[in-house]
Amino acid sequence: MQVPSQVEYERATSVDHALTLLSRPDTRVVAGGHSLIPMMKLRLASPEVLVDINGLAELAFITYDGRQLRIGALARHADLLDSAVAAEHFPIFGDAERVVADPIVRLWGTVGGSLCQADPSEDLSAAFAAARATAVIRGRDGDRTVPVREFHLGPYETVIGPGELLAEVRVPVRPGTGSAYEKVARRVGDWSVAAAGAVLRLGGSPRKPVVESAGIGLTAVGAEHFVAAQAEEFLTGRKADAETFAAAGAIAAEHCHPIADQRGPQDYKRHLVAELTTRALHRAAARAGDTA
Ligand SMILES: Cc1cc2nc3c(=O)[nH]c(=O)nc-3n(C[C@H](O)[C@H](O)[C@H](O)COP(=O)(O)OP(=O)(O)OC[C@H]3O[C@@H](n4cnc5c(N)ncnc54)[C@H](O)[C@@H]3O)c2cc1C
Repeated sequence: MQVPSQVEYERATSVDHALTLLSRPDTRVVAGGHSLIPMMKLRLASPEVLVDINGLAELAFITYDGRQLRIGALARHADLLDSAVAAEHFPIFGDAERVVADPIVRLWGTVGGSLCQADPSEDLSAAFAAARATAVIRGRDGDRTVPVREFHLGPYETVIGPGELLAEVRVPVRPGTGSAYEKVARRVGDWSVAAAGAVLRLGGSPRKPVVESAGIGLTAVGAEHFVAAQAEEFLTGRKADAETFAAAGAIAAEHCHPIADQRGPQDYKRHLVAELTTRALHRAAARAGDTA
């Protein structure tokens, strides 16, 4: 099936207008459309009304307010990839965006669409989970905030309710933090076989750094909420060295739940998780040193 079923199309002219339109039954936001339109063509989604938010410039921003990085839901992948302020505070996003699909998808696909699609292979979900970001969800009664780690209820399912939309994502910025993302795909532009993101805040002395806090996100390997919680717990308070990072990688591999598919068998994916987590931790630690 390559033709979507009949659908009514509405172009929102403001966020309030979008929320009014979304109060109608069986409506769906369309942002970049890179995931939703193919799903509609395959009849995996058949909304009655599409609410196009592409005109809402007020949702297309990336700023730093002195405490947190704020990324509007309508920021395109390419905007995040090119953002100097994001690169300064969270290079993990540039790392991830560089390997999301291809330039055409990145020019049109959005940060909000990536998170709301809730595809287990979506790179940004793991990156934002690692960074302990917060999602700002807007409804007609105002905003509510939800940690990204609680945003996804399962594959293709989020906490966004009827009549709501994702407005922005906020990431707290703290000195001494470094971050990185490592992905293996079968070919350039493909979805992950597996990927790992790390966000480390280091303390102690420059010669003997200690992990004060750690965030680890995993992509496409069945990690609950995209997080390697046991590895994060293991890292906290330990020396930031090669031995610790390798052990954390092994723990992340042990506790995720990859499935065997056309991208590879389970043991290969676990091997990748161990290796990619360890590499991401090394790069995050090196970058943390630069921002301390
Ligand atoms: C060929 C191809 C390769 C790709 N490769 C990768 C890859 O390697 N890694 C990767 O991470 N992604 C990949 N993607 C997905 C890409 O990142 C898409 O941009 C993303 O899935 C969806 O973003 P979108 O803006 O197009 O969302 P849409 O398709 O418009 O929407 C997706 C879903 O999110 C909802 N939605 C969108 N915005 C909001 C909002 N603000 N509030 C509430 N709901 C909203 C929609 O209703 C829909 O349910 C690929 C896509 C394609 C087509």
